[in-house]
Amino acid sequence: MDKFDAIVVGAGTAGCLAAKTLAEKGLKTCLIENKNKESIGTKICGDALGEHHLKTLGLEKPQGGELETRIEGIRIFSPDEKTVFTIAHEDFIGYLLNRRRFGQWLLKKAIDQGVTLLDSTKFLDPIIKNGFVSGAKVKSSDGSEIELESKVVVDSSGFLGVVRRKLPETMNIEKLIENKDVEACYREIRQLKQKTENTKYCDIYLNQKVTPGGYTWIFPKSGAKVNVGLGVCMTKKFPNPKKQFYNHVIKRSVFENSTILAAGAWFDPTRRPLDNMVGNGIVITGDAASLVNPIHGGGIGPSMLSGFYAGQVISNALEKGKPTQEALWYYNNLYMKSYGKKQASLDVFRLFLLKSSDDDLNYGMNCKLLTEKDVLKAGMGNEFHLNITETARRVFRGIKRMRFLNKLRVTVNMMRQVQAHYDTYPKTPEKFDDWRLEIIKIINNARSKLVD
Ligand SMILES: Cc1cc2nc3c(=O)[nH]c(=O)nc-3n(C[C@H](O)[C@H](O)[C@H](O)COP(=O)(O)OP(=O)(O)OC[C@H]3O[C@@H](n4cnc5c(N)ncnc54)[C@H](O)[C@@H]3O)c2cc1C
Repeated sequence: MDKFDAIVVGAGTAGCLAAKTLAEKGLKTCLIENKNKESIGTKICGDALGEHHLKTLGLEKPQGGELETRIEGIRIFSPDEKTVFTIAHEDFIGYLLNRRRFGQWLLKKAIDQGVTLLDSTKFLDPIIKNGFVSGAKVKSSDGSEIELESKVVVDSSGFLGVVRRKLPETMNIEKLIENKDVEACYREIRQLKQKTENTKYCDIYLNQKVTPGGYTWIFPKSGAKVNVGLGVCMTKKFPNPKKQFYNHVIKRSVFENSTILAAGAWFDPTRRPLDNMVGNGIVITGDAASLVNPIHGGGIGPSMLSGFYAGQVISNALEKGKPTQEALWYYNNLYMKSYGKKQASLDVFRLFLLKSSDDDLNYGMNCKLLTEKDVLKAGMGNEFHLNITETARRVFRGIKRMRFLNKLRVTVNMMRQVQAHYDTYPKTPEKFDDWRLEIIKIINNARSKLVD
C-alpha cells in the first residue's frame, strides 16, 4: 500500500492550494482527481475572482492565458431594471478568469512543490482505523481499486463532498447540506456578434420571477465573449434553471445571433460554513465545507483560503504528533475568524433577500432604503448596520413599506447577533456542541422571521 503524510481529494482551487501548502511544508502529499490532468480547472462557474483574495494568499495576479479580462466592479440591476447600483470599490476589483488555465496554473504550483498527482482516479471510500481517517480507497485510471494510506485526508471534492458524506457520525461533522441552502445554476459561455458596451463590470440582475432566491449574471470576458448564467434557490418548487435561462435571459437583444462556446449546470452551496470542519485525520475545505459567499455565490477565494489554512494546520498538527480532532481544531478558528463570521452573517442577508418581492426590491433600491453603500458593506461583511438617524430618515421615506423596512431592521440585528456568536467560536472541541446548538437556534429564528 502506498503511504503518504496527506491525501487531498479533488484538484479544484481548494485542493490545489491545500496540496501545494502541504508539500511546501515538506509533507509527502498525494492529490487525487477524477478528471484527467488536462481537464483540471474546468468548472461550471462565473469565473470572477476578487483581487483581494490573491493578495491575502500572496499569489501573483493572473496574466497571460489565465486572465480573460480585468474587472472594475459590479453593477446590480433592480428587477424592473430602472435602478442600477454601481459598486466600483477596491474590494470588487478583480478578474474574469480562464477557468481551466487558472486551474492548471494552480496545479502546476502544487506539482512544482513535489505533490504526487493521481489524475483520472476516483475516490471511493475513506479508510477508517481506530476512529481516525487513515487513507482512501480509490479507483485508478485502469479500473483497479487500490488503497492509499495517509496520516490525514483533506476533502476538497467540491459540492459533492465525497469524503464528508462517508464519515462516521462520531466525527461530529454535518453530512448533509440541505437543498434550501443550495443554488441550482445553469451557465453558458457565449460568443456575441459584437463586443458589448460593458467591458469593465460584472452585471447582476435581480428578479424573483426569473431567479427566485438567486440572480442572473452577465460577465464580460475577452473579445466579444461573455459568461452568462443564472442560479435559483432549491426550495420546494424551484424552476428549472436551464428553462429559465432560455425563456428569459437568452431573449435579451445582446444575445441575438450569439453562439454557445460552453454550457452546463452545477450547484453552489450558499449557507454558513459547516459548523465544524475537522475530525480525527480529516479536514474539509472549499465547497465540500460550504465555504461560499451566500450573497454572490463566489467561492474561489474562500476555497483557496481554506486549502491554504488546511495545509498550515495539518503540518503543525503532524509536527506535534497525532492529527486528532483537537490538534486540527485551529483550522476552524482560523477560517471562522477570517471569513466564516462574515459568511454566516451574509447567510442572514440571503434569507432577507430570499423572500423580498420584486416590488420591494424595486422600491427599496429606487428610494434608497437600501443604498450602494449598504450593499458594499454587506459584501464586506462586518460593518453592515443602520444607524439610528439613518434609520429614522429611511422610515420617513419608506412609510408605505413598513413591513419591508422592519424586515431589513430585523435582518441587520440578526446579522449582528450572528457575528457576536462567531466571536465566541470555541477554541477546543469541548464546548462545540453548545455553540452549535446556539447558532442553529439563531439561524432558525432568522429563517422564521424572514422566510417562513
Ligand atoms: C454556476 C456557478 C457559478 C459560480 N461563479 C463563481 C464566480 O464567478 N466566482 C467565484 O469565486 N465562485 C463562483 N462559483 C463558486 C466556485 O466555483 C466554487 O466555490 C469553487 O470552485 C470551489 O472550489 P473547490 O475546490 O472547493 O471545488 P471544485 O472546484 O468543485 O473542485 C472539486 C474537485 O474535486 C473533484 N472530485 C469530485 N469528486 C471526486 C471523486 N470522487 N474523486 C476524485 N475527485 C473528485 C472534481 O472533479 C473537482 O475537480 C460558482 C459556482 C457555480 C456552480
